[in-house]
Amino acid sequence: MNFPMYSNESDIRSAAEQIRDGRVVVFPTETVYGLGANALDPRAVEAIFEVKSRPTDNPLIVHLATPDEIGRVAIDVSPTAHRLLAEFSPGPLTIVLPASRDLPRVVTAGLETVAVRIPAHPVAQGLIRASGVPVAAPSANRSGEPSPTTAAMARRSLGAAPAAYLDGGPCEIGLESTVIAVSGDEVHILRPGAVTEADILAILPDVTVHAGSVAGTEATAAASPGTRHRHYEPKGEVILYNDVDRLREFLQQAGQTVRHGIIGPADDLMGWPGVVRSYVDLREYARNLYAWFDEFDQSGVSIVFAYLPDGSGFATALRDRLIRASGGRRIGRRGTIEEQ
Ligand code: AMP
Ligand code: MG
Repeated sequence: MNFPMYSNESDIRSAAEQIRDGRVVVFPTETVYGLGANALDPRAVEAIFEVKSRPTDNPLIVHLATPDEIGRVAIDVSPTAHRLLAEFSPGPLTIVLPASRDLPRVVTAGLETVAVRIPAHPVAQGLIRASGVPVAAPSANRSGEPSPTTAAMARRSLGAAPAAYLDGGPCEIGLESTVIAVSGDEVHILRPGAVTEADILAILPDVTVHAGSVAGTEATAAASPGTRHRHYEPKGEVILYNDVDRLREFLQQAGQTVRHGIIGPADDLMGWPGVVRSYVDLREYARNLYAWFDEFDQSGVSIVFAYLPDGSGFATALRDRLIRASGGRRIGRRGTIEEQ
């Protein structure tokens, strides 16, 4: 049997040493794998952008071990922001705050604000604590590709460039964190994730939450620069569908000339031939989405038909990533491919 070889304490200690020495390392979080470096060392942070070929106008998230350390990277943390951090940390919530003067501006892409998160994954926690510095980290993939949710996916994308890889097994959530900005009593969701609008309102019923639209409006793009860029796209073309009968008709008309893969609800896809990945609930869909894209890419699938779920809450984050990955292409009512 094949047992996974997860990183142990001595692996974590030596990766932390690499971070202190100004190098970049791959590490697991509960959302996706990150490519981390010392946020206080501008040269180390530049290396993140180089390794990923990330546009330098796309700011990084800074990771801390506890909310108590927030003063190392941010200032003027409002009571509302404090409350949300206290409530959802450690976890998949990133808050945009006014940046401390000491924070190198390469981290924030020149902005006067910094995005901060306290990840819950024990390996991420161990790495940040052992390195003793705030860790700037985007997802551990080359820019534009889907985020890695296993160490093997990160390695396929980044190869030998990082100084170390920590393995914490498959990520539990599988989608990037919720990013919010707080001003006064208003919370703007800049990127939907596992912490939902309802979760925020349950803690702070008196705030107004602006959800933004799925896959980014102009306003969202301006406030959260990263949402402008191409994102989450596998090598195969992604086409969305929301009706399995329409998918069946589409495939019958198209013939079986292209290698395709299908992702959808288990009930719909029972007994389907071919390359099929199915899920029972949306958490399972999210947890596996990027790994399934990766598997399809590796098996030479050139079109991925992915089910677009309805609904709000957690479904919003999944819809956002699916719409970005597909560029909005979907099988429409007339059985043809429509651009959204
Ligand atoms: P990634 O690291 O690729 O998961 O992306 C980080 C996300 O956080 C991107 O969508 C960024 O635009 C967003 N972000 C990071 N810093 C800021 C900031 N200071 N203000 C607004 N959004 C930010
Ligand atoms: Mg990313």
